Amino acid sequence: MRTDGRDGTATGGGAGAGAGGAGGAAGGGAGRPAPGAPTNWAGNLAFSAARVHRPGSLDELRAVVAGSRRAKALGSGHSFSDIADTDGDLIDVRALPPEIDVDTAAGTVRVAAGVRYAELAAELHRHGLALPNTASLPHISVAGSVATGTHGSGDANGGLGTSVRALDLVTAGGDTLTFDRATDPDRLEGAVVGLGALGVVTHLTLDTVPGFAVRQRVRTGLALGDAVEHFDAVMGAAYSVSMFTDWRAPRFGQVWLKQLDGAADPDLPWTVPAAGPVHPVPGMDPVHCTPQDGVPGPWHERLPHFRPGFVPSSGEELQSEYLLPREHAGDALRALAEVADRIAPVLQVCEVRTVAADRLWLSPAYGRATVALHFTWVKDTAAVLPVLGELEAALAGLGVRPHWGKLFTLDPAQVRAAYPRTADFLALVAETDPAGVFRNAYLRRVLGE
Ligand SMILES: Cc1cc2nc3c(=O)[nH]c(=O)nc-3n(C[C@H](O)[C@H](O)[C@H](O)COP(=O)(O)OP(=O)(O)OC[C@H]3O[C@@H](n4cnc5c(N)ncnc54)[C@H](O)[C@@H]3O)c2cc1C
Repeated sequence: MRTDGRDGTATGGGAGAGAGGAGGAAGGGAGRPAPGAPTNWAGNLAFSAARVHRPGSLDELRAVVAGSRRAKALGSGHSFSDIADTDGDLIDVRALPPEIDVDTAAGTVRVAAGVRYAELAAELHRHGLALPNTASLPHISVAGSVATGTHGSGDANGGLGTSVRALDLVTAGGDTLTFDRATDPDRLEGAVVGLGALGVVTHLTLDTVPGFAVRQRVRTGLALGDAVEHFDAVMGAAYSVSMFTDWRAPRFGQVWLKQLDGAADPDLPWTVPAAGPVHPVPGMDPVHCTPQDGVPGPWHERLPHFRPGFVPSSGEELQSEYLLPREHAGDALRALAEVADRIAPVLQVCEVRTVAADRLWLSPAYGRATVALHFTWVKDTAAVLPVLGELEAALAGLGVRPHWGKLFTLDPAQVRAAYPRTADFLALVAETDPAGVFRNAYLRRVLGE
């Protein structure tokens, strides 16, 4: 297995001391990683796979899947939950040929599942094309990101899965199957945020947009009261906006503004410009971050917070994220302030973003303009889990949906009920994977037996 350092995925074991097992719906799999066992990027999960495969061709992949009774695809391993775990065959898709086929006439790109956004973005940029948005980091695989509903920020920006036009999969038994917006848009919308439950995605075809330039600036000192009162003005002040707080004081210490080049600079009188480059996680080196000097640069060098080739975030962490209807943003921030003394001791940083409504069945932004409350925790599962429970209780009644790839302890029945199309998704899974080859402990727990 590859151990390519913390700038990439660490699925080779020894990525760091494990955080111990996580119970409840949060998952956390086998607990403290056994020496040599493959782990996720964060090192809090040791995969319990009996076998790890790295097929180098579609034929090899089909043979592995055909011969497996329990299998799971693994992307770049950046999920914190046990969503990618299996006790059968773990199929790392990153050795498949890293195809990136750009169709400039159609404005689309067909990309192999294991390709990371960093590589895809560089290639699109060479063709004068772009994706509308990115996550905070470009280190993650396209298929894995889309499968968990990964998103960035921006009032008008949907999650990364909203760019998907078609998905090619290998299903149980080794057959191939395509979901295509052109022929069956409803099923495509069901399959995109697929939680790895439908099969192994081999390729995705994405919509692109013309390349664009972005200027990034950071402002500081936004009082919580102003953030609540002027939420729409702050989050609408640029193409993509993130507010950061450590909840040690009722204030957002950083507001990151990613503005389209040529658009007017936002007027945010409740903030002041940052004195220089900053990292959102206290104590971390801003050299890891994309430029914040207001100089226009290509979309993929400004929209992520973190640069490829550098450790994203703090590198020693756990993460959770809760996505709510945007209209509850003020109530949610006030509710978090009530439990700030519980959150702050185990928190590295909290980020608030917005996501446009979409139609992807299991997307946390399905059917509603969304506010996303993200938490980068200290790497101590035992200390963090009880706080998740208190935080989730504080947000009760606000329509919370958890990020599928991060830690949560919400009642699975409540999670299922938060998605109007859960039953349709389960029917799609039953159709594509009737024997449950791709069902793992996470899916049984969260989606039900
Ligand atoms: C530092 C850091 C920052 C992050 N920032 C953000 C952020 O800004 N926004 C956000 O929304 N999330 C963020 N995340 C979460 C991250 O985007 C998700 O965990 C995402 O799933 C990572 O993609 P991956 O390739 O690592 O997926 P993995 O963890 O490898 O897999 C996740 C799921 O996808 C499935 N999967 C992977 N590949 C395939 C395939 N080929 N076919 C079928 N299923 C597949 C797996 O089976 C599993 O169910 C962050 C994570 C980290 C570590």
